[in-house]
Amino acid sequence: MKYAVMLVVVLLVAASLTVGLRRIRRQIALGAVPLPAEINGDALLKRGLLLSRLFKRPASGIAHLLLVLGAVLELFAHAQYVPYLGDVIDFGLWFLDYGRELAAIMMLAGVVFMLLRRFFPPERLTAGKARPGFTGMNILLLLAVTFGLVGSQVNVVLPAFVPWWWLHGLLTLAFIALVAHTPMSHIVLGPVNSALAPRRPGITLPAIDFEAELPEGEDLRLGASKLADLSQKSLLDFSACLWCGRCHEACPAAQTGKPLSPKKIMLTCAEYLAQGRAQDEGLIDELGMEAIFNCTSCAACVEECPVSNNPAEVVLEFRRHFVMSRSEMPETMAAANANLEKRGHPFFGTAANPDDWQQGLDVPLFEAGKTEYLLWIGCSVAYEEQAQRAARAMVRLLELAGISYGILEGPHCTGDPAKMMGNEMQFVDMAQANIEEFRELEVRKVITVCAHCFNSFERYYPQLGGNWETISHAVFIDRLVSEGKLLPRASQRKITFHDPCYLARHNDIVEPGRRVVSALGQLVEMPRSGKDGFCCGAGGGNYWGGQGGTARISDVRIEEALATGAERVATACSFCQLMLTSSASKHSEERKVFDIAELMVEAIEG
Ligand code: SF4
Ligand code: SF4
Repeated sequence: MKYAVMLVVVLLVAASLTVGLRRIRRQIALGAVPLPAEINGDALLKRGLLLSRLFKRPASGIAHLLLVLGAVLELFAHAQYVPYLGDVIDFGLWFLDYGRELAAIMMLAGVVFMLLRRFFPPERLTAGKARPGFTGMNILLLLAVTFGLVGSQVNVVLPAFVPWWWLHGLLTLAFIALVAHTPMSHIVLGPVNSALAPRRPGITLPAIDFEAELPEGEDLRLGASKLADLSQKSLLDFSACLWCGRCHEACPAAQTGKPLSPKKIMLTCAEYLAQGRAQDEGLIDELGMEAIFNCTSCAACVEECPVSNNPAEVVLEFRRHFVMSRSEMPETMAAANANLEKRGHPFFGTAANPDDWQQGLDVPLFEAGKTEYLLWIGCSVAYEEQAQRAARAMVRLLELAGISYGILEGPHCTGDPAKMMGNEMQFVDMAQANIEEFRELEVRKVITVCAHCFNSFERYYPQLGGNWETISHAVFIDRLVSEGKLLPRASQRKITFHDPCYLARHNDIVEPGRRVVSALGQLVEMPRSGKDGFCCGAGGGNYWGGQGGTARISDVRIEEALATGAERVATACSFCQLMLTSSASKHSEERKVFDIAELMVEAIEG
C-alpha cells in the first residue's frame, strides 16, 4: 500500500515538473530566432556539470558541489530501496549504513551555506533585487534533509517510529515538484543553457541581411525593443538567470557607478518574460538608453556567468534598436557615428594627418602577389598620436625580422566602432569596401595592432565574405621571438600586462602578450588579469561616449596597474593604450603605458 501511495505522489511530482518545464519552453519559443542546434559538449561538462565558474568563488563552488554530490549519492542510496531497481543498483550494506548519512551531511552543509548567504547577502545578490523563491526552497530542502538524517538516527532507537520518513519523503518530493516553478529551475536550465552556449567566447552580434526579401507585412528586425525581438537563446538566458549578480560585480560600468548593470538588465527581462510581456515595447525604455550605451562590450559578464548567459549580446541588441530604428544615441557617440558616415573614421575634431605616423619611415605599400603580410593600419593609428607609436614600432620589428609586409594606401577603418555602437548598416558598408580592396590585392595574411580590428576581421568579416588569416601583433611578435627572429635583451624592470578584452575574453589570446613581456622584463600580474581582466573602458564606442558614474573605468584600471609596483604598463591594443595613457597622465608626467611592440623595439635597439 505504501508503495502505491508513493507511486501516486511520484506521478504527481513528474506532472508538476512537466507542466513547469513546458511553461518555460512556451515562453522561450516566443523568441525570434530558434535555439541553436549545436551542442557545446565542453561547456556542458565544465560549466554545466562540473560547475567550473562557480569555483571562481571557492566557498560558493564547494557548497554547490556538496549539494550536487550529496544529491547524486542520495539518489543511488534511495534507489536501493526501490523494488527491482535495488537489485540492479546494489552498492552493499556499507553504502546503506554510511553513504546516505554522509550524503545528507554534505547536503546539509551546502544548504546551510546557501541560507546564510541569503540572510547575509553580498552586495551583488541584492543589486537591483534578489531573486525571490530561493530562501523558501532552501528551507524546504533543509527540512527534507534534516528529517532524513534525524529519521535514520531515530529509527535506530525507535524502529517503529515511521512519520520521520514520510516527512522526509514528502518534503523531498515537494522540493522536486517545485523545481520547475521556482528559481531552482536553474538545476535543469543551467546545464541546458551551457550546452547551447556558442563555442566561440565573448560576444557575437548576428549579421543583419539588409537585402533579404521579407514576407509581406514583415519588417526587417533592426535590434530589439521587446523580448519577442530577441533570440530564443536570450530568452532561455533570462529563465536560467539566478540574479546572482556575478555579472554585476565584474561589469566595469556597474562597478564605476554608471546606470548599466547586466544583472538589472537580465532580471528586468526575466520579469517581463514571467509576466507574459514578450510583445511589450515598454521594455527598452524601462532598461534606459543611458544604461544601454554604457556597455563597453568587454564581455566580463559573459565570462563570469555560471549558467553561460550572455547579457552583453542582449544589451547590444537594444542598442542596435536605439540607433537604427530610433536614430537615438548619446551626443558624443552620435558625433563619432556622423564622422564614420562622412569621413570613414570615428575621430572627430582631429587635425592629424593620417600619414603622419609614417614620417621618417619608408613603409612599403602592399603589392598583390609579392607581399606576404598586410600590416593593417586602423583608424586609431591614423588619427591618434599615442597609437601611432605602436604602428611605427611594429614597422621596425617587421623590418628587423626580415618579414615581407606592406600597408594599404590611405587611412582605413574596419568599421568596428560603427558595429559596436549599434550602426550595423555603416559597418556593413565599410566592411564590404575593405573586403573588396583585399580581394583585389589578393591579401591572404593580415597583422593587426588593434584588438578591435583583430576581432572584426576574425569574427565578423567572414560573415560578409572576408577570407584571410588575421594575426594579432601580440601573437606575431611572440612568434618572431620564439623563432629567434627578434632577440630582445631582458631587463630587471617590472612590467605589468593589461589584457585587451578583445584579445583575452573575446578571442582566448592570453599567453602570447605575457610571453612577450616576460622576454622583456619581470612580468607582474594585476589582481584581475587574463580572461578575468578589467576593461580599459573604450570598447563599444565608449572611447567617444560620455563616461558618467562615479569614476572613469580607465582610472580604476590604471590605479590597479600602478599598485603592482610595475614601472611600465604594457598592452596590445591601440584603444587600451589611449585610454590608459590618458588616465596614467593623472599620476605621473613620466610615460607609463606602452604597446608591447614599442617595448620590444626598445629591448632590441636600446
Ligand atoms: S546573467 Fe549570469 S552572472 Fe548575471 S545575474 Fe544572471 S546568472 Fe548571475
Ligand atoms: S559587456 Fe562589459 S560593460 Fe557590457 S554589460 Fe557586460 S560586463 Fe558590463
